[in-house]
Amino acid sequence: MLLPYIGVSALGVLLVALAVEPHWGGEQVSRGVDDLAQLIAALVATALGAWRGQRASGRSRLSWWLIATGTGCWALGESLWSYYELVSHTVTPFPSFADVGFLLFPVFALTGLLVRPSAMLAGNGRLRLVLDGVMVAASLFILSWVSVLGEVWRSPSESRLGLLTGLAYPVSDLVMITVAVLVVVQARARTGLLLVTGALIGMAFADSSFSYLTADGSYHTGSFVDYLWMASFLTLGAAAIGDQTRGVVLPRVAVSAWYLVLPYFLVAVGVAAVVPTVGHGATLLLGVGASTVLALVLRQFLTLLDNRVLSRSVADQREELQYQAFHDGLTGLANRALFADRVNHALELHRRDMRPLALLICDLDDFKVINDNLGHSAGDQVLIAAAERLRATVRGGDTVARLGGDEFAILLEDGGDALDLSARVLGAMSAAFPVGVRHLPVRMSIGVATLGPADGGMELEELLTQADLAMYAAKRTGKATAVTFDRALRESQQDDLDLRIDLTAAIDGLQSFGQPVLTAAYQPIVHPDGRVWAYEALARWTRDGISIPPDVFIPIAERSGLLPGLDMLIIESAVKLTSLDRHTAPRMSVNIGLAHLADAELPRKIARLLDRVGLDPERLIVEVPENRAIESPEVHRSLKALRRLGILVAIDDFGVGYSSLSRIGTLDPDIIKLDRSFVAELETAGKHTDFVAGVVELSHRMGALVIAEGVETPAQLAVLASMNCDLLQGYLLGRPAPQLIAPSAALLRGVSF
Ligand code: C2E
Ligand code: CA
Ligand code: CA
Repeated sequence: MLLPYIGVSALGVLLVALAVEPHWGGEQVSRGVDDLAQLIAALVATALGAWRGQRASGRSRLSWWLIATGTGCWALGESLWSYYELVSHTVTPFPSFADVGFLLFPVFALTGLLVRPSAMLAGNGRLRLVLDGVMVAASLFILSWVSVLGEVWRSPSESRLGLLTGLAYPVSDLVMITVAVLVVVQARARTGLLLVTGALIGMAFADSSFSYLTADGSYHTGSFVDYLWMASFLTLGAAAIGDQTRGVVLPRVAVSAWYLVLPYFLVAVGVAAVVPTVGHGATLLLGVGASTVLALVLRQFLTLLDNRVLSRSVADQREELQYQAFHDGLTGLANRALFADRVNHALELHRRDMRPLALLICDLDDFKVINDNLGHSAGDQVLIAAAERLRATVRGGDTVARLGGDEFAILLEDGGDALDLSARVLGAMSAAFPVGVRHLPVRMSIGVATLGPADGGMELEELLTQADLAMYAAKRTGKATAVTFDRALRESQQDDLDLRIDLTAAIDGLQSFGQPVLTAAYQPIVHPDGRVWAYEALARWTRDGISIPPDVFIPIAERSGLLPGLDMLIIESAVKLTSLDRHTAPRMSVNIGLAHLADAELPRKIARLLDRVGLDPERLIVEVPENRAIESPEVHRSLKALRRLGILVAIDDFGVGYSSLSRIGTLDPDIIKLDRSFVAELETAGKHTDFVAGVVELSHRMGALVIAEGVETPAQLAVLASMNCDLLQGYLLGRPAPQLIAPSAALLRGVSF
């Protein structure tokens, strides 16, 4: 909209200039066109200013309404002037009401400029600008008095009122130019503001030039000042169109050096100009000089005030930065840096006068699940609420911090009871967390490290590590609990690490006294009539002559990614053992971890191995534990590939996982291995009988065999046999042994199949 407007305006001014040329239609026509064109320009500026005022808000709105009023006043003055000149054909009287209209323009326009929302006009800026205006105007006044104004004043003239009016024009022009220049020097390039000030400067110039040319007798219709007026009004209109300033005051910007120096410079020039003229009109100049000095002093005072405000805001900012550096942005709790600082201080006190202290690390359980499933904003809400509950639980003197992620910490000083606090924290977390429309159960695991009066010195890192280890122990023992660090915990951690190192070596095939340290034991799986159907290969590890139970080393192998290697080692020994006895070759059942099963290479590896030793794939059974990961697409794919090879798939430990038989059914397993916990309780008051009978029944219906694990007594065997359980495994029928041992005839005779 701005560009078309500028185009139309420029075209308008050009047409007026052509029409005003006297030889087209005589002096009278030129004057008419000239007067009317100026009136129209002023009306355009008024209309656009009012339009902008209507649309703007706050100070910007007020500013534009004032400017529009100013141009409106000017337009009224111009209409009156035109009336005298064009209608009543008289010489416009001076002073007249037209002058009132003209002179009201700078008053409204300047006020409008000063109320504009602008950083430099915020606070004391507005007052300082006025003072600067006075100072600069006074200096310019002195300058112009020496050059032009004195001449006007001394020229022979009519009345005193006329004289004052005549003087009011150049003075208002000076003030307008001054303020406009100050604003422009200070303005960050913004089109709206620059256009307004540019227009005002243009107006002031046109006006002064008009005064001068009139006094000089050289003004004529169509002289450049007429176009300057028009252009200025049209520029004001452009400013109204282009102004985007919102009604808010922007943050204060640094005051430019130009702005600081300009008034002093002009004062200096003014004083220099006055010196040679002392004597002429001395009283007036003295008055002007005195107000200049007063304005200068006041301005200095304001600058001091501003500096104070500025330094106070710097101090506030520093405080804010300090706060941010030591607090967590999301929860407002202390951050890791501040927490470390406080703990160090507490450790210092402990070293000096044995003051006890405790450190709690509180970690949200399964927070990742919330974040992943409900989004980060839900996660943030939970963190904020958890922080709030922690804060409410501790005493005033204790420090609560967020160490990062979902990990919080509490520093307990002056002998507070850490266990008591842990219990209270767990209690505070037990109520569900409202997030949106949901109520989420969120729990915490807490690790506690304490430093009593009898304990020696300790470093921050050590204390944090202790609390961390205790927290992980709490997670392992089932979450939503608190565990206090003690030496045994450290030792078990250390043992874990040692075991891992040794297990790695064992899988790599290192031997001890010529014997492999990692071997397989074989446990028979038998028909109810006692015939061996298969052997299950189970890993055995002897470390420094002591056998480590699989329940200990299998989870370690799993956590450290060693399980695939271990599994392959056992499969290899199992497969080699069967191939030695090709004729009677019994089936072999091996265990494979789910993480290993996700490996797409596994089926091919096993196929190659079977090929190498010449074993029929149907003689191999792969046991996979029943657990959630069994549903992953990778595991599905591997199981399918194994079954395609002809290998049998068994679901191990069935019943303790989460799966229902119908879900397991989609995997189409060949065998279901009923977990031994169900078998163990079969005798006692018929507990689980229905479940076991149901599993047998359903497995048969989907074409799978059932193996009952952990058969230890003849009674269990009898019940299972009566339920049509296909196969049995357990100490009663044979313990895992280094060789393939079938149940002895004596034993079989002892039990009735
Ligand atoms: P699992 O696959 O359920 O193996 C059967 C476990 O039950 C074996 O324990 C076996 O000794 C034990 N057991 C057999 N009959 C009876 C009985 O009548 N009563 C009792 N109370 N227990 C009996 P083990 O050898 O300690 O193995 C524990 C677990 O370690 C196995 O459970 C299996 O999940 C895992 N595991 C063992 N070897 C390997 C392996 O080579 N690879 C993988 N991935 N896991 C293995
Ligand atoms: Ca097994
Ligand atoms: Ca099992």
